[in-house]
Amino acid sequence: MHTSKINLYRSFILILFPIVGIISLFYWIKNGYYNSNTIILAIAGYSLIGISITAGYHRLFSHRTYKSHWLVRLFFLIFGAGALQGPAILWCIDHRHHHAFTDHTEKDPYSIKRGFLWAHIGWLFFKHYKDLLTKENINRHKDLFQDTLLVWQMNYEIILGFSVAIFLPALIALSWGDFWGGFLIAGILRSTLNHHATFLVNSLAHSWGADPHNKIISARNNLFISILTLGEGYHNYHHQFPSDYRNGHRWFHWDPTKWFISSMSIIGLAKKLKRQVT
Ligand SMILES: [Zn+2]
Ligand SMILES: [Zn+2]
Repeated sequence: MHTSKINLYRSFILILFPIVGIISLFYWIKNGYYNSNTIILAIAGYSLIGISITAGYHRLFSHRTYKSHWLVRLFFLIFGAGALQGPAILWCIDHRHHHAFTDHTEKDPYSIKRGFLWAHIGWLFFKHYKDLLTKENINRHKDLFQDTLLVWQMNYEIILGFSVAIFLPALIALSWGDFWGGFLIAGILRSTLNHHATFLVNSLAHSWGADPHNKIISARNNLFISILTLGEGYHNYHHQFPSDYRNGHRWFHWDPTKWFISSMSIIGLAKKLKRQVT
């Protein structure tokens, strides 16, 4: 991995968004602009964009744990772009490398062995996604590059991403007269929360929790992270059984993403759900 050159676009988002988001939150509340509709909008955005990462980018596109209707894939790609975490194809390649080379200091792009901060966010300051578009990767991950929806999303990810993440909540909140609340709170601040929820899976879920399924790797099961990340915290199980559509495999494990996928299967939008443990 090239770590010499800073990725300015990504660094700009990762540094500026939390600063602007937190200052806006204080300003918004202190000056009496607080609006509960905007808060509900932020929670809805967090959930829709979050589920597009967990059920879409992660469990569908990266691990192929189930099959879905093309409209579902389109939904995941549009709202997943709103997570501002890069195109799904490149997110998946990084994630597949993370699974194939877990804890390897060079080959695992967000290896915890390079430190908590590196695994959480540091690696993204240097990530040049175009470096992933090698002949070898295109060959090895044919399933991604042959999917026209995925390729389309890769080409329009930035415009789609900013439209869904920032401009859509701003326009929706305008309908109750809170354009800037929509832009700054349901847009920028909510983006930061979605970012760090995903990042916690790479950092905290590789450092804190139980390891009942695989003691060799750093991945851990952690209920706290599952609550923040729509069920992605059973990470030790997930690394051991990555083809399972569930991360929390017991019925009582807090995994809204698995409940979402099984609900889609009931109404015919998802099928062939894989389980590795019954
Ligand atoms: Zn992991
Ligand atoms: Zn995974």
